[in-house]
Amino acid sequence: MWTDTHCHLDAPEFDPACAAAQRDEARARGVAHCVIPAVERSNWDTVRALAHRLGDAYALGIHPLYVPQAQDDDLDALDAALTAQLGDPRLVAVGEIGLDFFVPALTEPAMRERQTHFYRAQLRLARKHGLPVILHVRRSADALLKGLRELPPGGGIAHAFNGSAQQAQAFIEQGFALGFGGALTFEPARQLRRLAGELPLNALVLETDAPDIPPQWLYVPAAERAAGVAQGVNHPRELPRIGAVLADLRGLRADELARATSDNARRVLPRLAALA
Ligand SMILES: [Zn+2]
Repeated sequence: MWTDTHCHLDAPEFDPACAAAQRDEARARGVAHCVIPAVERSNWDTVRALAHRLGDAYALGIHPLYVPQAQDDDLDALDAALTAQLGDPRLVAVGEIGLDFFVPALTEPAMRERQTHFYRAQLRLARKHGLPVILHVRRSADALLKGLRELPPGGGIAHAFNGSAQQAQAFIEQGFALGFGGALTFEPARQLRRLAGELPLNALVLETDAPDIPPQWLYVPAAERAAGVAQGVNHPRELPRIGAVLADLRGLRADELARATSDNARRVLPRLAALA
């Protein structure tokens, strides 16, 4: 039984008419649970409805890449949505929230400040509603950790983690698991593979980040994309194969890794346990 702790199944890359059949395909391969994080106010209803339709879980939040178009009252709307849905067992976290200091337009001083405002406000909402958080971490681990120390939300997941061993340890000390996915299937990603192989097993969760972060077997190099070949679309059905790569790196059987990472997901997202 595998758990995909991060997949955007509402993304435009996926045809809603095929969503159930594609989800069944993943389930047939052993993917028991998917967590669908939201990215902005306009998709909160969509991810909630999709999670119910597919028998999965969801999170509500404002993603840092959507902060430029977010309005101040979206935070009040998020508070209201969390209040309204708190009784829904499929709501498992506040997310996807965080900081992105990679995208150039988001690193301007005013936009850094606005991202930080939305991040801290959403940490406060997670604390208010007693929910863990799903964090987007890109060139921002230290700034995110500063927020967690000041406004600890009681754990969650640092998704698509690609930082240092010290940063990993600091997230673990804050009650977080680290999300690993398709990036570790690339042999040149030596530092990431070493980290995934050496971190304590109880700190790891798996994710696809579908439709993004395609594993090596779906990846289309830039030159081919320029020639018109489409990038492969990632999906939770790829999770067991990604998990098998991680199991190999750690010298475990795939079923042992599946059980451990699913247990970890239920520990850091406690409401998932009630769905199982
Ligand atoms: Zn995401």
